[in-house]
Parts: sequence; C-alpha cells; structure tokens
Amino acid sequence: MNYLHRYLNNLVISLCLLFSCGVATAATDCAVTIESNDQISWNKQAIEVDKQCSEFTITLVHAGKLDKEVMGHNWVLAKEQDMSAVAKGVWMQKATDYIKEDPRIIAHTQLIGGGEQSSIVVEVNKLQEGQKYVYFCSYPEHVELMHGTLELLEEKRE
Ligand code: ZN
Repeated sequence: MNYLHRYLNNLVISLCLLFSCGVATAATDCAVTIESNDQISWNKQAIEVDKQCSEFTITLVHAGKLDKEVMGHNWVLAKEQDMSAVAKGVWMQKATDYIKEDPRIIAHTQLIGGGEQSSIVVEVNKLQEGQKYVYFCSYPEHVELMHGTLELLEEKRE
C-alpha cells in the first residue's frame, strides 16, 4: 500500500516534470530538488522562488542508507520569525514524524529515510514579497545543520 502510494506520488511528479504543471513559461524553473544524506546535511542552503510560478515543487531526496528512525529528514517551511516556535519541542512529536499541528507551518514533506524521496507543492500566492522564509529538517537535533532560507523573487537571478 505504501509502495503504491509512493508509486502514484512519483508518477504525478513525473507527469508534472514532463508537462510542466502550472502556467509558468518554459524558462521559469518552478521546482527544486534538495539532496540529503546520512551526514545530517543537505545540498541547498537557499531557495529562490520565481513569482511567475503559480506552484513551486520541493523534492527532498535522501541519498543515504540509514532508516528514517535514525537518520530521518523532512523539509519544513515557515516564516523566519516563526521558525524557533515551530521547531520548539518537535522531538516530542515522534508519533507524527516530528511535525506538530501548527498553522505557522506553511508546507512540509514527509519524513524519509535512505533511498526515499518526498515532494511538496507550495502555492506561490501564499508567499509574500519581502518576507523571509526558512526551511529546516524537524528531526530531533537536525535543525542546526539542516536549514536554509527561501525568498520570493520577481525575477530569478541567473
Ligand atoms: Zn534530518
């Protein structure tokens, strides 16, 4: 069942990549892939979202081998000023994969382990210009090493 769900999820993502979901022009990249590993790190510390995108897809890949029980990663988005409150006490939220019910969480992927991936679509019209956003992994003790900033840009810098 889990496999089927993942398969369908991947299928949707693949179709989106093929036909570029949304109304963005071909030149606009409305998706980003972040690769994480077994060393509590990932390869992107900053994401810029083009305002021309109606939806922006974040795909978190876990290129490591360790299980999510010991080296789980997720991608959680919040406003910069909300981050510490959102991140506080997440270690107690194991039952919900370290995500607590909090309206300040704008978007989040699933918690994944080695060899897995999870995608989330961010509605770009929910993001405000000039507002700084942060993303982080909410697995206990990972936030210090796994975080980054996300900003809305009018035109993507080359
Ligand atoms: Zn993590």
